[in-house]
Amino acid sequence: MTKTTTTAPNTGGGMWLFEDTTSGSVFTPERLSDEHKLIDQTADEFVRNEILPSHGQLETKDWKLARVLVNRAGELGLLGTDVPEQYGGVGLDKASTVLVGSRFGQSGSFGSTFGAHTGLAILPLHCFGSDTQKDKYLGRLVSGEWIGAYCLSESSSGSDALGAKTRATREPDGSFVLTGEKMWITNGGFADLYIVFAQVDGEQFTAFLVERNSPGLTIGREEHKMGLHGSSTTPIILQDVRVPSDNVLHHISKGHKVAFNTLNYGRFKLAVAASGNATAAIGEATKYAAERQQFGQPIATFGAIKHKLGEMTVRAYVVESMIYRTTGLLDASLKGNEIADAGPLRNILEELSIECSILKVAGSEMLHYVLDENVQIHGGNGFVKDYPAERQYRDSRVNRIFEGTNEINRLLIATTLVRRALKGTLPLISAAKRLEDEVTDPPTLVEASEVPLAEQRSTVLAFKKTSILVLGLSMMHYGDKLGEQQELLSCVADILIDTFGAESAVLRADQAAIDAPQNQLLQIDATCVFVNDAAGRIEANARTALASMSDGDSLRLQLAALRRLLRFSPINTVEKRRRLAETTVERGGYIFR
Ligand SMILES: Cc1cc2nc3c(=O)[nH]c(=O)nc-3n(C[C@H](O)[C@H](O)[C@H](O)COP(=O)(O)OP(=O)(O)OC[C@H]3O[C@@H](n4cnc5c(N)ncnc54)[C@H](O)[C@@H]3O)c2cc1C
Repeated sequence: MTKTTTTAPNTGGGMWLFEDTTSGSVFTPERLSDEHKLIDQTADEFVRNEILPSHGQLETKDWKLARVLVNRAGELGLLGTDVPEQYGGVGLDKASTVLVGSRFGQSGSFGSTFGAHTGLAILPLHCFGSDTQKDKYLGRLVSGEWIGAYCLSESSSGSDALGAKTRATREPDGSFVLTGEKMWITNGGFADLYIVFAQVDGEQFTAFLVERNSPGLTIGREEHKMGLHGSSTTPIILQDVRVPSDNVLHHISKGHKVAFNTLNYGRFKLAVAASGNATAAIGEATKYAAERQQFGQPIATFGAIKHKLGEMTVRAYVVESMIYRTTGLLDASLKGNEIADAGPLRNILEELSIECSILKVAGSEMLHYVLDENVQIHGGNGFVKDYPAERQYRDSRVNRIFEGTNEINRLLIATTLVRRALKGTLPLISAAKRLEDEVTDPPTLVEASEVPLAEQRSTVLAFKKTSILVLGLSMMHYGDKLGEQQELLSCVADILIDTFGAESAVLRADQAAIDAPQNQLLQIDATCVFVNDAAGRIEANARTALASMSDGDSLRLQLAALRRLLRFSPINTVEKRRRLAETTVERGGYIFR
């Protein structure tokens, strides 16, 4: 590993795997400023006072009300926190946007309306729009006067987004005529501006800005969904819709850049919303567990329930740590750049695509776990509609499907890393070679240390080496056919997700000695539980991966190398989860914010 001595984090995507990130260099929620806290409070009050009470009405598909609420969010500056002031935004950093997104994550269906409008319409227009397009549309979207939607998917192309069949035919006057049908479009029923992806002349994938009142554009019927009943999801049908050449977003044949960078940010923001949703649900679960009596005592006093509350807290803490660490990378790389210049933002979104996919998978699966256990803690009341647990469980299921399914994101995590290694932008091949020598050297004894988190730090180093070992061997074994080994790549992705999570938690807990000393012991508890359990998962994934490509003596040698890397002693996680759960109950909710 190359030891970095700077206190500034390296913003190169995936570089954390090869460098020893110094403690003190990552952004954490404990480092939010007073200005950040103000915007957080504004978003929190808006969601609690105006969105949550409207939820029942929104579920009747009252899109007039949805428009009013989007407009109100615009008045409060919540739709354009990171948009330049010249377009009506507030011009703040990404940390502010994360705080707002996290609060909206607690707002159920409206979170989806908000997410599509800000992340899938405002963001691509800000990043890829021409000055004329921004002058015409961005201010309207940021104020909430207009609502945006993003039309990529079609009935036959969801994951295979570039396989879209919608056609754009060039006309002699330079305009385009669009024909096709888009599926599952969030805000479809009431948007004013649609970002539509189509193939120009059948082969050049391109994004277009299409206004709602364009002749030939019709909106299909609302989908009957499992959840998110208060969010509009419809097909958008385009029959000979004429679009002026000025409304090509970015460049002809560069639609993939618009689509994928928008999705990168969307994945990051999905994790942010999941984090907000999970922390709120932990509050509800805690309150219920403290009040509900069985066998003459609150269910919160039972070990089985403490395990759940403790584990929910651990998982939410780790995802939150990864989110803020990534936010720090985004803000550090945008610092010093004019916010009006979208070029650096486009570049960093592409650069951090691995981290965005990691967050999407980790955030959505953490939320699924938390909401499932929330239902369980509520018992029968969790299965009926009188409590929010039932709706939240249904609403959250789609998080593992949209913004790229979790299967696709797992494949992206591993294949992007391999691609960058082959291009030489990530030092995977040299790191794998160094590791080959290291695992055959006689083992050095790790001295026991009293320093908090010392063991966890060296375990994280072992996680990184395991990732490099498995990836290096996979590349050697399969060469350019590695992309076909999806089960193996998914194992690699899971190892990387756990590694990034474990390191982010360790760094945050370490920094808490200065940033949040009153909470540091609890952060250490959460970190130790996560690292302990991640070690078991990483070992199992690595064994599955190695056994899928080797056998006999060669497998035995590889497994011996794995054992040398991953030497750790289990800790008492029961005691730590109990302490986390008891503090959660004492404080009445999620303890790390
Ligand atoms: C409520 C809701 C809102 C949505 N909002 C929008 C929106 O605003 N705009 C928009 O454009 N789209 C939207 N979508 C569509 C969404 O992005 C797609 O549903 C998603 O990308 C998955 O595509 P699909 O449904 O065609 O599934 P498929 O691609 O058919 O996938 C089915 C299964 O096969 C797996 N799979 C597919 N390909 C591979 C592969 N190569 N390797 C391994 N496994 C694979 C998938 O992981 C999945 O498990 C929304 C969907 C829903 C349900």
